[in-house]
Amino acid sequence: MGFQHPDISAFPEISLVIGDERARSGSGADWGHVYPGTGRVTREVRLASPADVDRAVAAARAAQPAWRALPGDKRRDLMFRLASVIESKAAEMSPLLTAENGSILIAGGHMSLDAAQKFRYYGGWADKIDGRTISTWGGPAHDYVMYEPYGTLGVIVPWNGPLFAATMVMAPALAAGNCVVLKAPELAPWSLMKLMEAIHEAGFPAGVVNLVTGGPDVGAAMVDHPGIDKIEFIGSGATAKKILASAAQTLKPVGLELGGKSAVIVFGDANLQAAAKRGLSGAVSANGQGCVNGTRLLVERSVYEPYLQMLKAMAAHVKVGDPFAMDTFMGPVISETALDRIDSMVRRGVEQGGEVLCGGARMEGDHGEGYFYPITVLAGVAPASEIARNEVFGPVLVVTPFDSEEEAIALANDSDYGLGAYVHTTNLTRAHRVAGRMMAGQVQVNGSGEAMTPCVPFGGMKHSGHGRLGGIEGLREFQQVRNVWVNLQD
Ligand code: NAD
Repeated sequence: MGFQHPDISAFPEISLVIGDERARSGSGADWGHVYPGTGRVTREVRLASPADVDRAVAAARAAQPAWRALPGDKRRDLMFRLASVIESKAAEMSPLLTAENGSILIAGGHMSLDAAQKFRYYGGWADKIDGRTISTWGGPAHDYVMYEPYGTLGVIVPWNGPLFAATMVMAPALAAGNCVVLKAPELAPWSLMKLMEAIHEAGFPAGVVNLVTGGPDVGAAMVDHPGIDKIEFIGSGATAKKILASAAQTLKPVGLELGGKSAVIVFGDANLQAAAKRGLSGAVSANGQGCVNGTRLLVERSVYEPYLQMLKAMAAHVKVGDPFAMDTFMGPVISETALDRIDSMVRRGVEQGGEVLCGGARMEGDHGEGYFYPITVLAGVAPASEIARNEVFGPVLVVTPFDSEEEAIALANDSDYGLGAYVHTTNLTRAHRVAGRMMAGQVQVNGSGEAMTPCVPFGGMKHSGHGRLGGIEGLREFQQVRNVWVNLQD
């Protein structure tokens, strides 16, 4: 029988926006987008080609001087208007987010409103871009610092949250006076096409934001392009390595927001029910495909058994199924390939000593047509095993016990990644002490994602990337610094 397939009559038509040209198709290959809830094709898209990238870069470069020169209050007003248009389209946008990657409907609604919030937050910065003066050595001289946009930014985002990722880059980049060439991922193209409708309706000048829907060849053409002044990349470490190697040829700066294997430390004094609920969200959030999901649970031995029992009982109550159904809390993973990768990592995890507490094999029956994997918890996982060290990017949690605060800190930091960390405790001094030693870009105490708002910096340490999006740090990411020294002697 299977689950409902998306209604494609509401899909946006425009897949390419270059300056004032708005076209249904690019000049590249055909791509049949697959809806992961049913495993069936939704609609064909003619993707962009590297030649389309050339034209998009030219349009962005042509628009940039005027965009940079536009007074900050005018950029602010346009961004506020865009926020309102996105809000007015939220009901149309959320089913598209479900249709593109199987996000549950509720998450789609939240992401549309979150996109609006980002433009509102950074619209508020657009009219507050100032510099600073410095009392120089060796005067008399007057010295000041100016913040300058890079120019044309290439934005490459992943399929797991294209609207979330693109707007977390575009809002600060546009506020700072940059123009954008945005690549919508071929695996999940619909929400960014809809975003372009909103940008058009809000009245942005042509060329300020350009869209090329495409795959790795289009991304690579953006990285190689001499007309792109900076690349902001959100995706996997493997792709990031290729991008850095290519960017070396044009000495292009690259911002990187990459994957994670974020630790969740549960101390014996924690509110165990709340910690179990939040721990489970590491598997459920974004259908287990969130970069900052807490997937490596470290639990103090004194509460290890009761915590596992709570986790298991709660997992049994999470409805996994049709992402369009309002009572569904977890949908499918993105593809058959992802399903195979997750399943084989879980199998190897078991071979390496992990005990399956729940889940552990792909779902059948109604779920068999789509790409469904159940919430899977592997207990007693050795910290050195593959599944404890590598990003699974599926609804899989690994749990390891610890005996002391020092051991918990050491285990949490013993990772190539450093994106998020979560600490569960009711001991105030311990909370701050441990948070201050986490080698991760974002630490949440008694939280599980609530910090992800536009006003705080987000980003990784180590293999999770560098640079920050959100807050004033996010604005600085898209500004270059110019220092001006003026001789006051003659
Ligand atoms: P991916 O690296 O395969 O692809 C990301 C994007 O890069 C896609 O748009 C793809 O078309 C493009 N691309 C692929 N090869 C390219 C190349 N050679 N040159 C230029 N562009 C190229 O990643 P994915 O599977 O789409 O996304 C999952 C990964 O993204 C996970 O590791 C996840 O943790 C990470 N992620 C990180 C964040 C964050 O904010 N830190 C957010 C979301 C996802």
